[in-house]
Amino acid sequence: MKTVVEMMRDGVHEDGIRRAGEILRKGGLVAFPTETVYGLGANALDPEASAKIYQAKGRPSDNPLIVHIADWESIGMITGELPAQAKLLSDAFWPGPLTMILKKSEAVPDTTTGGLKTVAVRMPDNAIARALILAGGGYVAAPSANTSGRPSPTTAQHVAEDMDGVIDMIIDGGAVSIGLESTIVDLTEGIPVILRPGYISQKMLSSVVGEVRMDRGLLIDDPSVHPKAPGMKYRHYAPRAPLFIVEGERSRVQEKINALTAAEAAAGRKAGVIAADETSGGYSHAVVRSVGSRGQELSIAQHLYAILREFDHMEVSVIYSESFETPQMGAAIMNRLMKAAGHQVIEV
Ligand code: AMP
Ligand code: MG
Repeated sequence: MKTVVEMMRDGVHEDGIRRAGEILRKGGLVAFPTETVYGLGANALDPEASAKIYQAKGRPSDNPLIVHIADWESIGMITGELPAQAKLLSDAFWPGPLTMILKKSEAVPDTTTGGLKTVAVRMPDNAIARALILAGGGYVAAPSANTSGRPSPTTAQHVAEDMDGVIDMIIDGGAVSIGLESTIVDLTEGIPVILRPGYISQKMLSSVVGEVRMDRGLLIDDPSVHPKAPGMKYRHYAPRAPLFIVEGERSRVQEKINALTAAEAAAGRKAGVIAADETSGGYSHAVVRSVGSRGQELSIAQHLYAILREFDHMEVSVIYSESFETPQMGAAIMNRLMKAAGHQVIEV
Protein backbone atom coordinates (compact mmCIF):
# COMPACT_ATOMS: atom_id res chain seq x y z
CA MET A 1 0.00 0.00 0.00
CA LYS A 2 1.23 3.50 -0.80
CA THR A 3 1.03 5.77 2.23
CA VAL A 4 0.15 9.36 1.28
CA VAL A 5 1.64 12.14 3.44
CA GLU A 6 -0.46 15.32 3.85
CA MET A 7 1.60 18.30 5.03
CA MET A 8 -0.20 20.48 7.60
CA ARG A 9 2.63 21.88 9.71
CA ASP A 10 1.31 25.38 9.09
CA GLY A 11 -2.26 24.51 10.09
CA VAL A 12 -5.42 22.77 8.90
CA HIS A 13 -5.76 22.37 5.09
CA GLU A 14 -9.41 21.80 4.25
CA ASP A 15 -8.78 19.83 1.04
CA GLY A 16 -6.39 17.42 2.79
CA ILE A 17 -8.85 17.00 5.67
CA ARG A 18 -11.60 16.18 3.15
CA ARG A 19 -9.44 13.45 1.56
CA ALA A 20 -8.52 12.08 5.00
CA GLY A 21 -12.17 12.09 6.11
CA GLU A 22 -13.14 10.16 3.00
CA ILE A 23 -10.53 7.48 3.77
CA LEU A 24 -11.98 7.11 7.29
CA ARG A 25 -15.56 6.92 5.99
CA LYS A 26 -14.52 4.15 3.57
CA GLY A 27 -12.97 2.11 6.39
CA GLY A 28 -9.31 3.09 5.90
CA LEU A 29 -6.55 4.19 8.32
CA VAL A 30 -5.21 7.74 8.79
CA ALA A 31 -2.46 8.72 11.27
CA PHE A 32 -2.87 12.24 12.65
CA PRO A 33 -1.40 14.56 15.28
CA THR A 34 -3.09 15.18 18.62
CA GLU A 35 -1.72 17.28 21.50
CA THR A 36 -0.53 14.10 23.28
CA VAL A 37 1.03 11.79 20.63
CA TYR A 38 0.20 10.83 17.02
CA GLY A 39 -2.89 8.63 16.73
CA LEU A 40 -3.75 5.90 14.23
CA GLY A 41 -7.37 6.61 13.31
CA ALA A 42 -10.21 4.49 11.97
CA ASN A 43 -14.01 4.81 12.04
CA ALA A 44 -14.80 3.67 15.61
CA LEU A 45 -18.32 2.52 14.70
CA ASP A 46 -17.17 0.26 11.84
CA PRO A 47 -16.01 -3.10 13.25
CA GLU A 48 -13.90 -3.95 10.19
CA ALA A 49 -12.19 -0.55 10.18
CA SER A 50 -11.21 -0.71 13.85
CA ALA A 51 -10.03 -4.32 13.39
CA LYS A 52 -7.52 -2.98 10.83
CA ILE A 53 -5.88 -0.90 13.55
CA TYR A 54 -4.94 -4.02 15.52
CA GLN A 55 -3.47 -5.55 12.39
CA ALA A 56 -1.43 -2.48 11.42
CA LYS A 57 0.01 -2.11 14.94
CA GLY A 58 0.38 -5.80 15.77
CA ARG A 59 -1.72 -4.91 18.82
CA PRO A 60 -3.23 -7.68 20.99
CA SER A 61 -6.98 -7.80 20.29
CA ASP A 62 -7.91 -7.53 23.99
CA ASN A 63 -6.35 -4.05 24.20
CA PRO A 64 -9.22 -1.58 23.60
CA LEU A 65 -9.06 1.65 21.58
CA ILE A 66 -9.88 5.20 22.66
CA VAL A 67 -12.79 6.78 20.74
CA HIS A 68 -12.14 10.42 19.82
CA ILE A 69 -15.00 12.90 19.48
CA ALA A 70 -15.06 16.61 18.58
CA ASP A 71 -18.03 17.90 20.62
CA TRP A 72 -19.82 17.03 23.88
CA GLU A 73 -23.11 16.22 22.10
CA SER A 74 -21.45 13.26 20.35
CA ILE A 75 -20.93 11.39 23.62
CA GLY A 76 -24.56 10.29 23.99
CA MET A 77 -24.57 7.93 21.04
CA ILE A 78 -21.61 5.82 22.22
CA THR A 79 -22.24 5.71 25.99
CA GLY A 80 -24.83 4.30 28.32
CA GLU A 81 -25.89 6.17 31.45
CA LEU A 82 -23.50 9.08 32.12
CA PRO A 83 -22.31 9.90 35.66
CA ALA A 84 -22.42 13.60 36.62
CA GLN A 85 -18.60 13.51 36.93
CA ALA A 86 -18.30 13.09 33.14
CA LYS A 87 -19.84 16.51 32.40
CA LEU A 88 -17.86 18.18 35.20
CA LEU A 89 -14.58 16.77 33.90
CA SER A 90 -15.52 17.62 30.32
CA ASP A 91 -16.24 21.23 31.29
CA ALA A 92 -12.91 21.45 33.09
CA PHE A 93 -10.53 19.56 30.78
CA TRP A 94 -12.09 18.96 27.32
CA PRO A 95 -10.94 19.48 24.70
CA GLY A 96 -7.69 18.15 26.19
CA PRO A 97 -5.48 15.25 27.27
CA LEU A 98 -8.05 13.38 29.37
CA THR A 99 -9.71 10.04 28.50
CA MET A 100 -12.81 8.88 30.39
CA ILE A 101 -13.92 5.26 30.73
CA LEU A 102 -17.74 5.04 30.57
CA LYS A 103 -20.41 2.37 30.03
CA LYS A 104 -20.73 1.75 26.29
CA SER A 105 -23.84 1.74 24.10
CA GLU A 106 -24.76 -0.83 21.43
CA ALA A 107 -23.41 1.52 18.76
CA VAL A 108 -19.81 0.73 19.69
CA PRO A 109 -18.59 -2.57 18.21
CA ASP A 110 -16.70 -5.11 20.34
CA THR A 111 -13.61 -4.81 18.13
CA THR A 112 -13.26 -1.17 19.25
CA THR A 113 -13.51 -1.99 22.98
CA GLY A 114 -11.61 -5.27 22.95
CA GLY A 115 -14.80 -7.03 24.04
CA LEU A 116 -15.32 -4.79 27.10
CA LYS A 117 -18.73 -3.34 28.03
CA THR A 118 -17.08 0.03 28.66
CA VAL A 119 -15.69 2.56 26.20
CA ALA A 120 -12.78 5.02 26.46
CA VAL A 121 -13.68 8.51 25.16
CA ARG A 122 -11.52 11.59 24.57
CA MET A 123 -12.03 14.99 22.97
CA PRO A 124 -8.62 16.15 21.69
CA ASP A 125 -7.57 19.78 21.53
CA ASN A 126 -5.48 19.68 18.35
CA ALA A 127 -7.13 21.59 15.45
CA ILE A 128 -6.14 18.99 12.82
CA ALA A 129 -7.47 16.16 15.00
CA ARG A 130 -10.78 17.96 15.56
CA ALA A 131 -11.26 18.75 11.87
CA LEU A 132 -10.44 15.16 10.92
CA ILE A 133 -12.90 13.69 13.46
CA LEU A 134 -15.70 15.83 12.02
CA ALA A 135 -14.74 14.99 8.42
CA GLY A 136 -14.54 11.27 9.26
CA GLY A 137 -18.05 11.00 10.71
CA GLY A 138 -17.59 12.09 14.32
CA TYR A 139 -16.17 8.96 15.98
CA VAL A 140 -12.52 8.07 15.43
CA ALA A 141 -10.89 5.14 17.23
CA ALA A 142 -7.23 5.99 17.62
CA PRO A 143 -4.48 4.36 19.63
CA SER A 144 -0.94 5.70 19.40
CA ALA A 145 0.37 5.33 15.83
CA ASN A 146 3.35 3.10 16.67
CA THR A 147 4.01 -0.59 16.18
CA SER A 148 2.80 -2.29 19.36
CA GLY A 149 5.52 -2.18 22.03
CA ARG A 150 7.58 0.68 20.51
CA PRO A 151 7.70 4.21 21.95
CA SER A 152 4.67 6.33 20.94
CA PRO A 153 5.30 8.69 17.99
CA THR A 154 5.65 12.40 18.69
CA THR A 155 6.43 13.39 15.06
CA ALA A 156 5.14 12.27 11.64
CA GLN A 157 8.62 10.83 10.91
CA HIS A 158 8.22 8.46 13.88
CA VAL A 159 4.86 7.36 12.46
CA ALA A 160 6.42 6.73 9.03
CA GLU A 161 9.18 4.60 10.61
CA ASP A 162 6.52 2.19 11.88
CA MET A 163 3.58 2.63 9.46
CA ASP A 164 4.88 3.54 5.98
CA GLY A 165 3.35 1.17 3.43
CA VAL A 166 0.89 -0.17 6.02
CA ILE A 167 -1.73 2.63 6.28
CA ASP A 168 -3.50 4.93 3.81
CA MET A 169 -2.37 8.36 5.01
CA ILE A 170 -0.20 10.23 7.51
CA ILE A 171 -1.08 13.86 8.31
CA ASP A 172 2.12 15.71 9.25
CA GLY A 173 1.23 18.42 11.76
CA GLY A 174 4.78 18.81 13.15
CA ALA A 175 5.93 17.85 16.64
CA VAL A 176 3.19 17.34 19.26
CA SER A 177 2.93 19.68 22.25
CA ILE A 178 2.65 17.29 25.23
CA GLY A 179 4.47 14.12 24.16
CA LEU A 180 2.91 11.58 26.56
CA GLU A 181 -0.43 9.78 26.19
CA SER A 182 -3.61 11.10 27.84
CA THR A 183 -4.55 10.59 31.48
CA ILE A 184 -7.15 7.77 31.65
CA VAL A 185 -9.80 8.04 34.37
CA ASP A 186 -12.38 5.30 35.00
CA LEU A 187 -15.83 6.70 35.88
CA THR A 188 -17.70 3.37 35.96
CA GLU A 189 -17.28 2.57 39.66
CA GLY A 190 -18.34 5.59 41.70
CA ILE A 191 -15.04 7.06 42.89
CA PRO A 192 -12.95 7.97 39.81
CA VAL A 193 -9.82 5.85 39.36
CA ILE A 194 -6.76 6.84 37.32
CA LEU A 195 -5.80 3.90 35.08
CA ARG A 196 -2.96 5.74 33.33
CA PRO A 197 -1.28 8.93 34.59
CA GLY A 198 -0.78 11.82 32.12
CA TYR A 199 -0.64 15.60 31.80
CA ILE A 200 -3.86 16.00 33.85
CA SER A 201 -2.72 15.02 37.35
CA GLN A 202 -4.60 13.36 40.23
CA LYS A 203 -4.64 16.73 41.99
CA MET A 204 -6.19 18.52 38.99
CA LEU A 205 -8.93 15.86 38.73
CA SER A 206 -9.60 16.00 42.49
CA SER A 207 -10.09 19.73 42.36
CA VAL A 208 -13.12 19.11 40.13
CA VAL A 209 -14.67 15.83 41.37
CA GLY A 210 -13.30 15.31 44.88
CA GLU A 211 -11.66 12.01 45.78
CA VAL A 212 -9.75 10.33 42.92
CA ARG A 213 -7.80 7.11 43.36
CA MET A 214 -4.85 5.57 41.53
CA ASP A 215 -5.37 2.06 40.11
CA ARG A 216 -3.64 -0.39 42.47
CA GLY A 217 -2.07 -2.15 39.50
CA LEU A 218 -0.12 1.06 38.74
CA LEU A 219 1.26 1.51 42.22
CA ILE A 220 2.29 -2.01 43.08
CA ASP A 221 5.20 -3.63 41.29
CA ASP A 222 3.67 -7.11 41.54
CA PRO A 223 2.82 -9.10 38.41
CA SER A 224 -0.15 -10.76 40.14
CA VAL A 225 -1.92 -7.39 40.53
CA HIS A 226 -3.21 -6.54 37.04
CA PRO A 227 -3.72 -2.92 35.99
CA LYS A 228 -7.34 -2.28 34.98
CA ALA A 229 -6.47 -0.70 31.61
CA PRO A 230 -5.64 -3.79 29.54
CA GLY A 231 -2.88 -1.93 27.69
CA MET A 232 -0.95 -1.08 30.86
CA LYS A 233 0.01 -4.72 31.41
CA TYR A 234 2.03 -4.97 28.21
CA ARG A 235 5.71 -4.12 27.88
CA HIS A 236 5.41 -0.80 26.12
CA TYR A 237 7.34 2.32 25.22
CA ALA A 238 10.34 0.06 24.98
CA PRO A 239 13.63 0.93 23.26
CA ARG A 240 15.63 -1.95 21.75
CA ALA A 241 18.54 -1.71 24.21
CA PRO A 242 18.00 -2.59 27.88
CA LEU A 243 17.23 0.52 29.92
CA PHE A 244 18.09 1.07 33.58
CA ILE A 245 16.91 3.94 35.77
CA VAL A 246 19.57 5.05 38.26
CA GLU A 247 18.05 6.63 41.36
CA GLY A 248 19.54 8.39 44.36
CA GLU A 249 21.37 11.52 45.33
CA ARG A 250 22.37 13.63 42.22
CA SER A 251 26.18 13.36 42.47
CA ARG A 252 26.15 9.67 43.33
CA VAL A 253 23.85 8.94 40.38
CA GLN A 254 26.36 10.67 38.12
CA GLU A 255 29.29 8.72 39.62
CA LYS A 256 27.47 5.42 39.22
CA ILE A 257 26.44 6.06 35.62
CA ASN A 258 30.00 7.13 34.72
CA ALA A 259 31.40 3.91 36.20
CA LEU A 260 28.86 1.83 34.26
CA THR A 261 29.46 3.62 30.94
CA ALA A 262 33.24 3.38 31.41
CA ALA A 263 32.92 -0.38 31.82
CA GLU A 264 30.82 -0.51 28.67
CA ALA A 265 33.39 1.51 26.71
CA ALA A 266 36.21 -0.73 27.98
CA ALA A 267 34.34 -3.71 26.56
CA GLY A 268 34.18 -1.95 23.17
CA ARG A 269 30.50 -1.04 23.38
CA LYS A 270 28.61 2.26 23.41
CA ALA A 271 26.17 3.18 26.18
CA GLY A 272 23.46 5.85 26.05
CA VAL A 273 22.63 8.23 28.90
CA ILE A 274 19.37 10.14 29.44
CA ALA A 275 19.95 13.18 31.62
CA ALA A 276 18.62 16.69 32.26
CA ASP A 277 20.19 19.98 31.11
CA GLU A 278 21.48 20.57 34.64
CA THR A 279 23.54 17.36 34.68
CA SER A 280 24.11 16.30 31.06
CA GLY A 281 27.60 17.89 30.97
CA GLY A 282 28.85 15.56 33.70
CA TYR A 283 28.94 12.29 31.74
CA SER A 284 31.74 10.72 29.74
CA HIS A 285 32.26 7.47 27.74
CA ALA A 286 28.68 7.61 26.47
CA VAL A 287 26.22 9.18 24.04
CA VAL A 288 24.37 11.69 26.23
CA ARG A 289 20.92 13.10 25.45
CA SER A 290 19.13 15.71 27.54
CA VAL A 291 15.36 15.75 27.95
CA GLY A 292 15.57 19.44 28.88
CA SER A 293 15.59 21.35 32.12
CA ARG A 294 14.23 19.80 35.32
CA GLY A 295 12.33 23.04 35.84
CA GLN A 296 10.33 22.51 32.64
CA GLU A 297 8.43 19.26 32.92
CA LEU A 298 6.68 19.68 29.57
CA SER A 299 10.08 19.62 27.91
CA ILE A 300 10.89 16.29 29.61
CA ALA A 301 7.60 14.78 28.39
CA GLN A 302 8.09 16.15 24.86
CA HIS A 303 11.57 14.69 24.39
CA LEU A 304 11.44 11.31 26.14
CA TYR A 305 10.04 9.11 23.33
CA ALA A 306 12.10 10.80 20.60
CA ILE A 307 15.28 10.10 22.59
CA LEU A 308 14.33 6.44 23.08
CA ARG A 309 13.79 6.14 19.30
CA GLU A 310 17.06 7.97 18.57
CA PHE A 311 18.96 5.47 20.72
CA ASP A 312 17.41 2.66 18.66
CA HIS A 313 18.96 4.17 15.52
CA MET A 314 22.37 4.60 17.18
CA GLU A 315 22.39 0.99 18.29
CA VAL A 316 23.63 1.65 21.80
CA SER A 317 24.16 -1.52 23.85
CA VAL A 318 22.54 -0.23 27.04
CA ILE A 319 20.84 2.96 28.26
CA TYR A 320 21.12 4.52 31.72
CA SER A 321 18.62 7.19 32.73
CA GLU A 322 18.38 9.64 35.56
CA SER A 323 14.92 9.76 37.15
CA PHE A 324 12.60 12.75 36.71
CA GLU A 325 10.21 13.44 39.57
CA THR A 326 8.31 16.64 38.74
CA PRO A 327 5.22 18.21 40.35
CA GLN A 328 2.45 17.83 37.72
CA MET A 329 3.59 15.26 35.16
CA GLY A 330 6.14 13.38 37.28
CA ALA A 331 3.82 10.41 37.84
CA ALA A 332 3.22 10.12 34.08
CA ILE A 333 6.87 10.58 33.12
CA MET A 334 8.10 7.99 35.63
CA ASN A 335 5.28 5.57 34.71
CA ARG A 336 6.43 5.57 31.06
CA LEU A 337 10.12 5.46 31.94
CA MET A 338 9.58 2.56 34.38
CA LYS A 339 7.68 0.63 31.71
CA ALA A 340 10.38 1.34 29.11
CA ALA A 341 12.92 0.04 31.64
CA GLY A 342 10.86 -3.05 32.44
CA HIS A 343 11.11 -1.79 36.06
CA GLN A 344 14.91 -2.20 36.18
CA VAL A 345 16.10 0.32 38.77
CA ILE A 346 19.62 0.73 40.17
CA GLU A 347 19.51 2.40 43.59
CA VAL A 348 22.66 4.24 44.68
P1 AMP B 1 -3.36 4.03 23.39
O1 AMP B 1 -4.54 4.34 22.56
O2 AMP B 1 -2.27 3.36 22.63
O3 AMP B 1 -2.94 5.24 24.14
O4 AMP B 1 -3.89 2.99 24.45
C1 AMP B 1 -5.17 3.14 24.99
C2 AMP B 1 -5.16 2.74 26.44
O5 AMP B 1 -6.49 2.89 26.95
C3 AMP B 1 -4.74 1.30 26.67
O6 AMP B 1 -3.92 1.22 27.82
C4 AMP B 1 -6.08 0.63 26.89
O7 AMP B 1 -5.95 -0.55 27.62
C5 AMP B 1 -6.88 1.70 27.62
N1 AMP B 1 -8.34 1.52 27.47
C6 AMP B 1 -9.06 1.74 26.35
N2 AMP B 1 -10.36 1.43 26.56
C7 AMP B 1 -10.47 1.00 27.84
C8 AMP B 1 -11.54 0.54 28.65
N3 AMP B 1 -12.78 0.44 28.17
N4 AMP B 1 -11.28 0.19 29.93
C9 AMP B 1 -10.01 0.31 30.42
N5 AMP B 1 -8.94 0.74 29.70
C10 AMP B 1 -9.16 1.08 28.43
MG1 MG C 1 -0.14 3.12 22.72
